[in-house]
Amino acid sequence: MTNPVKNVLLVEDDEDDYILTCDYLQQVSNYQFNIQWTDSPAEALALLKKNKHDICLLDYQLGSINGLTVLEQAIREGCSIPIIMLTGQSDNQLDNDALDAGAVDYVIKSELNTTRFHRAIRYALSRKEIENERLERIKAETRSRSKDKFVAHLSHELRTPLTSILGYTELLLFNKDNSHIHSELNTILSNGKHLLGLLNNVLDLSKIAANKLELNYATVELNSFFVDLYALLSVTAADKGITFNISATTHLPFQINADVLRLRQVFINLIHNAIKFTDKGEVNVELWLESTPAENSSADPSEKNTLHCTITDTGIGIPKHLLKTIFRPFEQVEDIVSRNEEGAGLGLAICCELLKQMGGTISVESEENIGSKFIISLDIGDISNTTLTPLTFNQVKLQPIEQGLTHIKGSVLIVDDIKDIRNLIGFICSSFGLETSFATNGEQAINKIVEAEKQQLSYDAILMDIHMPVLDGRRAISQLRKMDINTPIIAVTAATMKGVKKELKDLGFNDVVAKPVDKQELHRTLTQHLIKSPFKEVITSSTVHPAKQKSEPIQSQNSSSTQHFLIIEDDQDAAQITALLLNNLGITTTLAHSASEALSLLSNLQPTSHYDRILLDINLPDANGLELSKAIRELTPNSKITIISGNDIDQNTLKTFSIDQALLKPINLSMLKSMI
Ligand code: ADP
Repeated sequence: MTNPVKNVLLVEDDEDDYILTCDYLQQVSNYQFNIQWTDSPAEALALLKKNKHDICLLDYQLGSINGLTVLEQAIREGCSIPIIMLTGQSDNQLDNDALDAGAVDYVIKSELNTTRFHRAIRYALSRKEIENERLERIKAETRSRSKDKFVAHLSHELRTPLTSILGYTELLLFNKDNSHIHSELNTILSNGKHLLGLLNNVLDLSKIAANKLELNYATVELNSFFVDLYALLSVTAADKGITFNISATTHLPFQINADVLRLRQVFINLIHNAIKFTDKGEVNVELWLESTPAENSSADPSEKNTLHCTITDTGIGIPKHLLKTIFRPFEQVEDIVSRNEEGAGLGLAICCELLKQMGGTISVESEENIGSKFIISLDIGDISNTTLTPLTFNQVKLQPIEQGLTHIKGSVLIVDDIKDIRNLIGFICSSFGLETSFATNGEQAINKIVEAEKQQLSYDAILMDIHMPVLDGRRAISQLRKMDINTPIIAVTAATMKGVKKELKDLGFNDVVAKPVDKQELHRTLTQHLIKSPFKEVITSSTVHPAKQKSEPIQSQNSSSTQHFLIIEDDQDAAQITALLLNNLGITTTLAHSASEALSLLSNLQPTSHYDRILLDINLPDANGLELSKAIRELTPNSKITIISGNDIDQNTLKTFSIDQALLKPINLSMLKSMI
């Protein structure tokens, strides 16, 4: 290996000394020197200021000028090159003066051929290298800080308009009068959600890259976890005609300690991919527990417990040469991309990183046109205080999959020929609080409906598949409407193109819900047809008179409500939709669009009135929300404060600023419901 080349500036007015010094420099091992010579103090100063050399040897006596003067001036003017002073004689005072002035060392010319000189050179150069590394580190830290700040800002800026887009669309969908544009509204909603998903992925990756991803460990009940996953994904599989199974070959711990949201994210991504890239056959998820004695078992009697899982599909597979790069971000398999599947190729990279952080691993085996197998192993730590139970899909209490959806009263008949879909829609409807009955085709449905009418126990709504044997959905509805059955009948179909929807509505269906069934969409549609829409008036008034909302308390729809919230948000649209959603939950709201407006409202508050909660945007034009919260606390110590932000805020920050809660934009109805 060749020695590194170092640039030396030699400032020496005696030519003999210059030649001698060059000779001695060539003898210093481990380096090659590229020497630039000058005998002019002015030129030396100019060169030193440029900081281009790795080291400078500076003669103490430069004609009439003292080398110390050059040294002092060079350092004053920003020179960071290590400078060694060279002098003709040993002088303690001179030595001290040179070091005080900023020289890294002081060498007597008679010592140039000694190890002392070699050591001084090597020391000065390594000092320079350390200094360079330190500067590079500071630069990198500053760059990373600016990047973090930029990402945080971008996230906030992207999420704020999404609050308005998703919020208004949800609100408009609740209004029966808009049923003629439901298909367009659903397109906006699903695209908005898709955008939010992509944004979350990009932000997740940037957090992982910056080592800023925090995991929130809590107890997870494994059985419920997998039942929820099954409920969520089995419809998509059934819709493609694929068999989907989750099974366990050993008993599994009843509970484990994990970050449930991140674990769910990993499983959903892998199973969703398996279904997406499989056109026929099956997707099987198989789980098993492996317990082995810990490595230093004599000192530690505990076991190492690993939850293993394989996700196997019979899909298109992944070409061999691409298997290595599949866990890297943005590495979509090209020929698969050309099949028009959407996705940015971030999912697997995120899964891989999340698993790494959770103490797990992921690998893949795949063969083109045969299928793929993703293999996960997760260290689940100590499970000695939980029982081992078989995985079962029967004995699970029906719980709402997501919080915040209101209870719906009534009975619903679910008509579908595929058992899995019947069960799943039944499961979701039961979680809303509805009573469920089932029919496997149109004919059976008509018989059940007629029978129920006779007994004056008619259904409150019917969810009907279109493609069914014996009597399909189209013929069934025609017959039912001819029989004057006016029960709301909702078509549940994978064909949701605008033309199909119109055709189904013309046939007599009240509404159309897309397969795979989205729980929120189904809840919204059922609510709309089972009870009178509570949102109608607000939509009309807000869209006609948006200006009215500014800084005026908005009266609640529900006069018995005593809660009053102050919303501090500079984005007018986001503020208004948050107010509207809260109004519909019976909350009175007042808006402030800046910190100063909020502080003035709070300072002039009558002694008898107060805000129950203050919703505070973190990025305001005239203040940072966190800082503002301190002033708010002083003015109104009993109000709860919710900070609204485009980024996760950690618990420590919330504690430091005495903030009760943080909500991540975009704000939606169910978030606000759970907050109240
Ligand atoms: P994306 O968001 O694009 O789906 P992923 O990181 O989840 O990104 O997947 C990256 C790519 O890996 C996919 O676009 C697809 O080409 C391939 N892939 C992932 N899972 C499978 C699978 N089960 N079968 C075939 N190809 C897959």
